[in-house]
Amino acid sequence: MSKTIIISNRLPVQLQISNGSINAIPSVGGLATGMKSVHTGGDSLWIGWSGLTDEEIPKELILKIDKALAKHGSSKVNLSEEEVNGFYFGFSNRAIWPLFHYFLQYAEFKLDHWLTYKSVNRKFADAIIEKASEEDTIWIHDYQLMLVPKMVREKRPKLSIGFFLHIPFPSYEIFRTLPWREEILEGLLGSDLIGFHTYDYERHFLSSVRRLLGNEVSFDDIYVDDRIVKVDSFPMGIDYKKFSDAAKKQKEFSEAQQSDLQRRLDLHKKSSPDAKLVVSIDRLDYSKGIAKRLHAFKYFLDKFPQYKEKIRLIILAVPSRSNVPQYQLLKKEIDELVGRINGELATVSWTPIWYFYRSLPFDNLIDLYTSSDIAWLTPIRDGMNLVAKEYIATRTDKTGVLILSEMAGSANEMNEALLINPNNFEQIADTLYKAINMPELEQQRRNTILQRRLKRYDVEKWANDFMDSLRKQKNRDAANVSKRLTDNLMSAVLKNYNKARKRVFFIDYDGTLTGFKIDPQKASPDKSLYKLLDQLNEKEGNDIYLISGRDKETFGRWFLPKKYNMIVEHGVWISEEGGEFRMLENVNKDWMEKIYPVLESFVDRTPGSFIEEKNYSLAWHYRNTDPDFGANRAAELNTVLTSLIGNDDISVLNGNKVMEIKSSNVNKGRAAMRVLPQEDYDFIFAIGDDWTDEFMFQELPDEAVTVKVGMQNTKAKYYIESVSKVRNILKKFI
Ligand code: UDP
Repeated sequence: MSKTIIISNRLPVQLQISNGSINAIPSVGGLATGMKSVHTGGDSLWIGWSGLTDEEIPKELILKIDKALAKHGSSKVNLSEEEVNGFYFGFSNRAIWPLFHYFLQYAEFKLDHWLTYKSVNRKFADAIIEKASEEDTIWIHDYQLMLVPKMVREKRPKLSIGFFLHIPFPSYEIFRTLPWREEILEGLLGSDLIGFHTYDYERHFLSSVRRLLGNEVSFDDIYVDDRIVKVDSFPMGIDYKKFSDAAKKQKEFSEAQQSDLQRRLDLHKKSSPDAKLVVSIDRLDYSKGIAKRLHAFKYFLDKFPQYKEKIRLIILAVPSRSNVPQYQLLKKEIDELVGRINGELATVSWTPIWYFYRSLPFDNLIDLYTSSDIAWLTPIRDGMNLVAKEYIATRTDKTGVLILSEMAGSANEMNEALLINPNNFEQIADTLYKAINMPELEQQRRNTILQRRLKRYDVEKWANDFMDSLRKQKNRDAANVSKRLTDNLMSAVLKNYNKARKRVFFIDYDGTLTGFKIDPQKASPDKSLYKLLDQLNEKEGNDIYLISGRDKETFGRWFLPKKYNMIVEHGVWISEEGGEFRMLENVNKDWMEKIYPVLESFVDRTPGSFIEEKNYSLAWHYRNTDPDFGANRAAELNTVLTSLIGNDDISVLNGNKVMEIKSSNVNKGRAAMRVLPQEDYDFIFAIGDDWTDEFMFQELPDEAVTVKVGMQNTKAKYYIESVSKVRNILKKFI
């Protein structure tokens, strides 16, 4: 039976060693909960680091630990202290974390950290490879393991691999500063499905892939050699029921059942019934904007002094990564800031800020959420921010106001919250004012909508959605495979080829016989290509037509001495067996005068683009432009041309990074169909990569073997993945 393997830096169990015995306690965190439906029974395994370094685990306990973990469907990856330092505290948290949260100034790019990151990723990949069988599904989590998908794919090409990034993916401008950026992208592209919290992170990723690796991207599909990688956004939810049930239960507690914290909170409420409680909960991390929030609080009290003694801010800062220097500095900064503000403003009966530097147990969190009138969360950057969702889930009577930074991923789904820019103190102060004075009915109206959404798209739904999408991707692959020109299908084609008496080949040039070059003139044929075409041409009964959008001068120079048949400029000219080019279509070129200046203006405004002037067509090439910009300009040009063309009998062909304007009655399909009746062909073969070749695939008779190079949608019967495979296919006919 196939199983699911989940892999993350940490396991969803915590190990406790005491007096030589081992206790494995399941974690209650969001991810562990969400994965419950995926990580069930014997058909799932969770691989990760146990949280204890090799040095911390007594040798005699190793087996016991493995057994204890196995009971929870878990298996550990062993890491030494040095590895944890380089891989986790080093590269993950001192390079990737700051960079992906736009804290470029904190990012440290150290080669030894990177090398350890790589070798530890290899360890995780090996652990998967060891445990996975062919039919298994792998779900890899987060920024610590971005190289794992490719490492696994290389050894196990058939596995279904998903990856989810729990932190933001930064814009290309930020990402490109990483010295090992290509390797990170390539690592991720080993997956079949890559998930992000928001569409913004997704599009940043797609843009980086296009610009740095140059892969073809179509909507959310990335073409990688012989695979399509799908990218999508899945905003992670919370265990809604757990939070809302806990809040309901807590409401029914007698005083004796209440926690100390709850009693203190109630006391505060009793002593000043019209004062508001504002809570903020975050890990102590620079991305959370805690210091800024404290400054903004002071700003608010200066602007609205009437709220002195009428508002209290509870800051819960959870210790995190305290051996990374930036975090130590931050702790010091916040300690001092709280001290300063409290020192300046406190009165005998009022301390403006209650500051806790610790992690609170779940029940206390619920106490804080349910007792606070306002949740104030102002991260400078946050992949998602679950606290915002948890606060809303605990508001059983639907009161409470959420103020949330628009830089948090969750802001995308929480429009009914009061969204703020964490750098705009004026706006923050006014928003706090608004929150304090928001009528209850308005609070309830907003929270009703928020709660409905959070309940519907909870963490379990999130996990299931991801898995469904991964499954669909696998099925889509399988469906695609039916069109792939496999060895078996090729044998059948060869059988017909060998039986046939008279055969014709229509072979496109750029993107088919040769790859694309920055300068099209540099994509000239090499010796081995001549040899291959010679052999194919010499075979008894074979007619070869090179069929291309190129101009006749270039093709004449390259191929005329070889006496191959050629159709150029998409079908304007034909040359057979080394004869002079003659016109295959009567075309006029009056329109060129009108269109040329338009193209020139696009060249001026689109760096890297240029015009190729052919005898009967004009081509605007934009392969060397910025990919997004080039595509936008192409769309713009398309619109301009459509309105200009009017009644002229010309049309625009959108090729591979080129737009060609030519007479409407010229295309490769029409040209091929003119050649066909010249002989009684009983084997027809056509191959090409481009949109312009689709005319050929469409027009040729049903029995023709038509082959698309690349995996995009096509009218061809078959496809092969890339230009690198074309020559091998053609060799089979020799
Ligand atoms: N949390 C906790 N104990 C605490 C404070 C917070 O377990 O004392 C939990 C909180 O319930 C939330 C998580 O920590 O689920 C924080 O997640 P979030 O997405 O807000 O931030 P992250 O720490 O992942 O950056």
